[in-house]
Amino acid sequence: MKKLSVRDLDVRNRRVFVRVDFNVPLADGGTISTDARIRASLPTINFLLKRRATVVLASHLGKPDGKPDPKLSLKVVADRLAELLDRPVVFAPDCIGKATRQLVTDAAPGSVILLENLRFHPGEVSNDPEFSRELAGLAERYVNDAFGTAHRSHASTVGVAGLFDRPAAGLLMEEEIRYLASVLESPDRPHVAIIGGSKVKDKAGVIANLLPQVDKLLIGGGLMFDFLKGQGLGIGKSIFKPDTVRRARELAENPKLVLPVDVVVAPDPDSPDKAHAVPVDAIPDDEMGLDIGPKTIELFRKVLADARTVVWAGPLGMFEKDAFATGTNEIARAVAALTETGATTVVGGGDTLAALSRAGLRDKVSHVSTGGGACLQFLEGRILPGIRALADAHGATRTPIIAGNWKMHKTATVARAFCIKLRPRLADVLDRQILIFPPFTALAAVADELDRSRIGYGGQDCHWEAEGAFTGAVSPAFLRDLGCTHVLVGHSERRHVFGDSDDICNRKVRAALAAGLIPVFCCGEKLDERENELTFATLERQLSIGLRGFKEQDELVIAYEPVWAIGTGRTATPEQAQEVHRWIRSWLVRRVSVEFADRTPILYGGSVKPDNVDALMAETHIDGVLVGGASLEVESFERLVRFQA
Ligand code: PEP
Repeated sequence: MKKLSVRDLDVRNRRVFVRVDFNVPLADGGTISTDARIRASLPTINFLLKRRATVVLASHLGKPDGKPDPKLSLKVVADRLAELLDRPVVFAPDCIGKATRQLVTDAAPGSVILLENLRFHPGEVSNDPEFSRELAGLAERYVNDAFGTAHRSHASTVGVAGLFDRPAAGLLMEEEIRYLASVLESPDRPHVAIIGGSKVKDKAGVIANLLPQVDKLLIGGGLMFDFLKGQGLGIGKSIFKPDTVRRARELAENPKLVLPVDVVVAPDPDSPDKAHAVPVDAIPDDEMGLDIGPKTIELFRKVLADARTVVWAGPLGMFEKDAFATGTNEIARAVAALTETGATTVVGGGDTLAALSRAGLRDKVSHVSTGGGACLQFLEGRILPGIRALADAHGATRTPIIAGNWKMHKTATVARAFCIKLRPRLADVLDRQILIFPPFTALAAVADELDRSRIGYGGQDCHWEAEGAFTGAVSPAFLRDLGCTHVLVGHSERRHVFGDSDDICNRKVRAALAAGLIPVFCCGEKLDERENELTFATLERQLSIGLRGFKEQDELVIAYEPVWAIGTGRTATPEQAQEVHRWIRSWLVRRVSVEFADRTPILYGGSVKPDNVDALMAETHIDGVLVGGASLEVESFERLVRFQA
């Protein structure tokens, strides 16, 4: 099984392609104004140099639009990097081509090469396969340390990763993921978020995702005026966006949200001498709000006083001007003081970072994210393509799936308690897909508790019609409405206890797909069929009827579940399972396509337990497991999710 960290790669004396984020701000005249991003990648570079790897660094700088632009050359970064590393850095005038290949191949182990700006070629941004192949041809290993670019599906972040057997995260990437995942999933409490910046549009997703996780969420910055306007208050000439006021009003319904009680106003940003504080309900018509006021600073300080986790994105006022920087500076000081008491404090977003640096407090928080957009998207709960590409490279492009089928177990109350316990325990698991299939009656509770987590859920069955006189049945649309992504179809208990025929399974598969659900299509032979050597004939029938009308672009998961192994304690041996999985994969090649067979996960099910999961998952065609009995206890399910292969 592939590993996610550079620590697990054999890099000694190897050429290692490292995607870094050297997109540094440049001052007029082309000098680097802050080298923080270069410094942030030094641990990974030094780690590789210690192992005598040849380090081939690749980055973008600015937006050169797919053609060379001397003003955006990385040469200036190569010079700065050489100073920081205190060793020569070879600068390659292009990132691809024969001369670059030669330069990289000739480099002695322990050399550092920085390639010219990746975005001088259009293939970088378009994730062009040929461009990706050229880049991949430069090295034997791939490491992505560019968290700041992880939200982009570009050649160097996604395309190249897919061409290596064991693409890995660098040390910076690992640290970013660790801190950001911890504030989202398993924070020490009280947990307080501070959200500022100028636009609700940019932050609405972050606020919505953080609200269920935090104890309080403080609002400041330009976006506070959308919230104040939403409360029906006059905001004078302050900035606001009419189209996001409604969204702000909806978000403000959550009692965890804390809005400012006063603001610093002035006739315009260029009249700092006229700045004065007013209550939020007394903003003069001819003045604009430019910072939070002193009473709000006090209020925010009180809320922050005993926080153990703080996440902060967006300045609280127009911090670029001293007269309107007090709110941001004071809160920065409060956050820095909390860090000293051992609280975890995480700051993200380019402007917040600039504000923190301006206040001289950049080193006084636990973690400053190097990503602007990437950090915000991560906090929104999105899986970033650059991280996904690292997690996806298990054997082929299939992420392992661990799925728990609870069958007719657990009331809604018990299911809720299970999810509350499970969610933080699996917060750090980014490289496997986790799915739960609760009974229908517990789905809403599970949906509530797993909202915006990385744990997905689905229905145990569905009807083939969208609605109608089918007492007791549940349609795919009902499942979608509850946030289900998957649905089990053709489970052996449905087939053999409730009489679902191959034809009925097919109708359910089609209905699920039409509703936007991914069917987990279960198939498998009974004991007498195996004993009479009818295993493959049975599967042939189940698959060809059950998947009739299926199209290549449809998404599917297959679960091979030999009936004789389900709930019996009798597991197929890894070899027996691998044999059938290989056969199913070749069936998919024959009946659909190579690409489809390559991307479709095939799970094994039948008495999977913590003590046999590792051996099963070590098989190359077993992409995951569907588990009944052993998924019912949190401890045992966690152990399954953390299989080692
Ligand atoms: C199942 O129900 O899909 C299953 C495989 O059950 P168990 O793990 O209990 O055999």
